[in-house]
Parts: sequence; C-alpha cells; structure tokens
Amino acid sequence: MKHSKIIIIGAGFAGLTAAKLLHESGHEVLILEASQYFGGRARTIHLDGAPLDAGAAWVHYKAGNITTKIAEANGLEIIDDHYEPSFIWDKKQGKTLSKKKKERYLEEAEIARELAIDFFDKKGRNSNALEFIEKYLSKKNWSKKKKRIVGFLYAALLETDYGADIKNIVLSDERYLTLFDLDDDNDGKIVGGYQKLTNILRKNLSIQYKTVVNAIDYNEKNVSISTNKGIYTCEKVLVTVSLGVLKNEKIQFFPLLPQRKKIAIQKMGYGNLEKVILTFEKQFWKETELIYYIEETKKGQAFPFICDFSKTSGVPALVLFYAGSYGEYLQEKTDDFILEKAIDVLKAVFNKKNINPKSHYISRWSKDDFFFGSYSYSSDDDVKKYIKAIKKPLKNKVFFAGEATSLKGQAYVHGAIFSGIREAKRLGASSHFLI
Ligand SMILES: Cc1cc2nc3c(=O)[nH]c(=O)nc-3n(C[C@H](O)[C@H](O)[C@H](O)COP(=O)(O)OP(=O)(O)OC[C@H]3O[C@@H](n4cnc5c(N)ncnc54)[C@H](O)[C@@H]3O)c2cc1C
Repeated sequence: MKHSKIIIIGAGFAGLTAAKLLHESGHEVLILEASQYFGGRARTIHLDGAPLDAGAAWVHYKAGNITTKIAEANGLEIIDDHYEPSFIWDKKQGKTLSKKKKERYLEEAEIARELAIDFFDKKGRNSNALEFIEKYLSKKNWSKKKKRIVGFLYAALLETDYGADIKNIVLSDERYLTLFDLDDDNDGKIVGGYQKLTNILRKNLSIQYKTVVNAIDYNEKNVSISTNKGIYTCEKVLVTVSLGVLKNEKIQFFPLLPQRKKIAIQKMGYGNLEKVILTFEKQFWKETELIYYIEETKKGQAFPFICDFSKTSGVPALVLFYAGSYGEYLQEKTDDFILEKAIDVLKAVFNKKNINPKSHYISRWSKDDFFFGSYSYSSDDDVKKYIKAIKKPLKNKVFFAGEATSLKGQAYVHGAIFSGIREAKRLGASSHFLI
C-alpha cells in the first residue's frame, strides 16, 4: 500500500495543470496514469521522428487563450490558422469546384450558420442543427447541387468540432456561437505539436505510468484507490479521466456516485473524432491550411477535412479527419481498410494515380479504454447543469477535473487547463500562475 497526500488520476492537460500548481505550492502530489504516455487526448506521436498530434492540434481562439499565454511565456511558436480552404473537391461531380463556386457556397454556408441563431431564438429549447438546415434549405429556390453542397459545408465544421452528427447538436450552445466567429481571433497550431507544452507542465512531477485505476473508496478517513499495481491511499483524490471513461464506469466508486452526477454523466454528449495522419517523402501539393472533400455516404460525411501539418511537423504531412456516425462505422474496420480509403480520397483530390505515404498513423480514440472517444458536447440545453453536477466534489475527498467539467472551454484543451486550475485551488494550491 502506497500513501500520498494528494493523488491525481490522469496525466492529460487537466491532471498535469493541477499537479504542477499543487507541486509549485509545496504539496506532495502523485499522478496515476493508465497509459505509458503523458498528454492524454493531447498526445503527440512521432512518425519518422516528426512530431504530429494524434489528438488536439489547434489552439482555438488563440489570442485570448490561456494555452497561448503558457506557450508564449515558454518561448513556443504558434502559427496562425484561418481554416482557409484552398479548394473544395466534390466526389459526386468528380471534380474541384471553381473558385467562384467555392467562394459562393462557403459564403452561403456561413450565412446559414448565422441564421441558425435566429431559428434557435424563435424555437427555443433543444433546437438542433439538422432541423434548422433542413428547413432552411427547403425554403431556398436553389439547384439540388447547391443545396447539397451548402448543406455539407454547413455540417462539416460542426460535426468535426463536436465529434457528432448534426442531428445530435443543439444550437443553444456557446460553442456554436463562437465556432464560426474566428475573424478577429484566429486559431493556431503549436510548432512541434502539443507535446511541447505538456513537456513543460510535466517537469518535476511524479507520474506513475501504466497504473490503471479501477475503484475509489471514499467512505473512510483516507481515500483508497485500487489499481492494477495495488492499492494507493491518499487524503484527497482528483479524478481527471474523460467523460467516456466515466460513462463506461471503468472506475467504481464506493459509496456509489450520487444520482444527479450519474445522470449528468450519462446524458452529456461524448463524441468521436478520428484522424489518419500521413507523411510523405516529398510534398506533392501546394501549401494549404485546409481542403474540403465532399462525400456524403449513408454513414455520414467521409473525411470532410484534409489539413496540411507540414509546417508544424517539419515534414510533408497531411491529416484526414472523420467524425460522428462515419467515425463509428470506420472504426470497426481494419487499419488497412481505413488507410486505403484515405489514400483513395487523396488520389481523387490531387488527381494522382499513385499516392505512397512514407508513414502513417490511424487514431483509435473511440476504441481506447482510456478515452472511449474524443470530447464532450452538449446534446441538449441542460449542458451547464450537467457540467456543474459532474464537477461537484464528493465529501471534500474526491474532486473532478477535465474538459467535460469546464464551463470555460468544454471539449477543448483550454477547458481542461481551466478545470485543472480550478481544482488545484480547491485542493489548496496557492500558485495559480502557470507562466
Ligand atoms: C482527435 C482529437 C482532436 C482534438 N482536437 C483538439 C484541438 O484541436 N484543440 C483543442 O483544444 N482540443 C482538441 N481536442 C480535445 C482535447 O484533446 C481535450 O479536450 C483535452 O486534451 C482533454 O484533457 P483532459 O485532461 O480533460 O483529459 P485526457 O486528456 O483524457 O486525460 C485523462 C488521462 O486519464 C488517463 N486515464 C483514463 N482512464 C484511467 C484510469 N482508469 N486510470 C488512470 N488513468 C486513466 C488517460 O490515459 C489520460 O491520460 C481533441 C481531441 C481529440 C481526441
């Protein structure tokens, strides 16, 4: 049996942030991490030595983001990203849209996103993004093709940002309001990937890797934590595992979690977003931030985004994204199948007979028992109530952090950081400056 005053479960952004602040304030802290990595859903992998983000890759709303502040204070470079698509390729027509059409359709999709807010104002509770766009397009005197493409573009950004189909996304959410408002506040990408930041946070911390927590007993004076490596005891424990891990009841609580917390955990949405990361010997495309690929399958949008990560990784690299139902469908397939699909998309988009990646990585967040998906989202209007219930401590002994407990950045890295700061303060940290 090992004892530590404070134990933190999970070495993702929330856990690392809280541990750093507590450690700097003189507290004895131990992190128990199930995997052999730090960073959690913001883990950077290496393909032929090049750093590429398997999970989080963007710093959203860069200018005011705490992530930017920490990064810049530590001399890291963040490059702007405007999500400016260099072109749109439509599978149905088998071609790239003209520049004029690209601009017109993107503008129409933008208008639709803004008008969705009026729709919500009129309709009120639980109005969803699919219901809106169907009604909106049905009133337009446009060609079938235009409706199809504008509808696709409207959904693409939403579905990848939420990791969910638009039929499950509510319009009341603050994320919906801010997602498209990037004009004055660009997103950014960290050169070298998110590991640059997690490496800074984890310095001097005690992390016990490959230690899977299965139960927390908080009935006695000390909290008892059961793991695959034996029992740990502590005075207070901070749980930072993903909403997916909580939903799947991978950690048993004694006494049982209060009913309100259980309901919130089950009702809050938790999405999936996956990536196919490819590196190449030589760059065969013109530098780009983003390419839209339009293919609407019965299972949902196939690889709607292709992004260029050459600048941040230092090697020619493309990343294809997929999410929601299509993600669920494709995750059942083998790596070879997924890779072939991705390569077929690139062959079409770049009009090439052969595409031979040097290396590849296929993410499996939704199949991973330490994550079960990508990030939380609001599937109904009660999301704030759910977040408050999930983050509520138990008996002043068990505390909760992580993106799904954050009212200031749910789903994002900065939400995880804010939640770590919040709980570190609650646990007695006097230092709350990470910079
Ligand atoms: C594909 C993808 C793309 C994303 N893109 C972005 C983006 O561009 N920008 C952005 O801001 N955010 C993005 N996100 C979201 C972002 O990664 C998360 O919000 C953030 O990293 C969550 O941090 P966290 O500390 O809350 O949780 P996690 O990172 O999940 O950390 C929890 C830790 O707990 C560990 N753990 C789980 N179960 C146990 C157990 N039983 N015992 C011990 N340890 C356990 C896990 O291994 C993990 O290390 C993305 C996520 C994904 C998956």
